[in-house]
Amino acid sequence: MEIKLKNILIQDWAGHKGRPFLISGPCSAETEEQVMQTATQLANIKEVSVFRAGIWKPRTRPNSFEGVGIEGLKWLRRVKQETGLLVGTEVANEKHVYEALKYGIDMLWIGARTSVNPFTVQEISDALSGVDVMVLVKNPINPDLELWIGAIERIARAGITRIGAIHRGFSSYEKTLYRNQPNWQLPIELRRRIPDLPIICDPSHIGGARRFLHEISQKAMDLNFDGLMLESHIDPAKALSDAAQQLTPNDLKELLSRLILRNPSTSDPRLLDVLGELRQQIDVYDDHLLDLMEQRMKVAETIGRYKKENNITILQTTRWDEIINKVIAKGIAKGLSPELIDTIFKAIHQESINHQMKVMNNGVKNKADENL
Ligand code: PEP
Ligand code: MN
Repeated sequence: MEIKLKNILIQDWAGHKGRPFLISGPCSAETEEQVMQTATQLANIKEVSVFRAGIWKPRTRPNSFEGVGIEGLKWLRRVKQETGLLVGTEVANEKHVYEALKYGIDMLWIGARTSVNPFTVQEISDALSGVDVMVLVKNPINPDLELWIGAIERIARAGITRIGAIHRGFSSYEKTLYRNQPNWQLPIELRRRIPDLPIICDPSHIGGARRFLHEISQKAMDLNFDGLMLESHIDPAKALSDAAQQLTPNDLKELLSRLILRNPSTSDPRLLDVLGELRQQIDVYDDHLLDLMEQRMKVAETIGRYKKENNITILQTTRWDEIINKVIAKGIAKGLSPELIDTIFKAIHQESINHQMKVMNNGVKNKADENL
């Protein structure tokens, strides 16, 4: 489906403030005082365009703080009146949309646990029909680009033209450094598929901890994302949700001052520093290759343990023949030379054998030691 976008840059959605388009505010609205104090300080940071606060909070487990509800919309309205900032909140069903619009909320976003569900996104889209409000669609929690694009299409079909995407990372079963895996290749591919769609990075939910926010924000800027959504709180340690990842307004200011914006020196902000961005993409793919190899070696080690328990040799020639023939054929179909595939896979195979050997010989060595 062709997505019809208003031909205005996201920077002009809120008066021209330049790049990054910045959304900040607490994970959750907790009290009127917390909201007003945070907003007042954020209003003094020139880059901030939109004040965010969650009113209805989608929590992983019950019995945690689930948001203040409609009462909080009154506080957001007050923020808008008293600071002049635009205000935004998360909507997860049609009732939320109606309530938020009633209170003059300027920007709605669809959270990661909602964009995963086409029925709910359609319900939200129907509620938005004919309304002129800004809508941002977060990526679904699982790394499924088609589902993300589908959600964006559903919102676009309601006639929303100030529409954008938020990259907040993807959940994974393994414990990783970041709270959610960035899988940068997905937003890069989204940009290729819908070039005019603004993309905002949400380093707070990707990193999950304050110490990662700068490096993730910088990466997003280097990949030419349009904006950032960073959670901030007047007193992060006391936050009722996501305490570890929120910044004080002062720390936000400091983070922004350290961001290097490699903007093209041209009057067209859409024109990229092409080489720089392409190199960033190469770095993303290289990281991805390393992650994949790490995962492959972990599987090899599991196989090693299994072979050891069952007394099977490491090298099974027929299996290796099968692999190399299969990958060479697949590689040719992808335009890769058989020489490249042969070299890479022989090296990977050797590394797998080394990992399996290590697993197999571990116990043996210990036993030998015991006999000494
Ligand atoms: C949020 O932005 O507060 C939020 C709940 O995010 P996500 O949907 O990305 O988990
Ligand atoms: Mn949050």
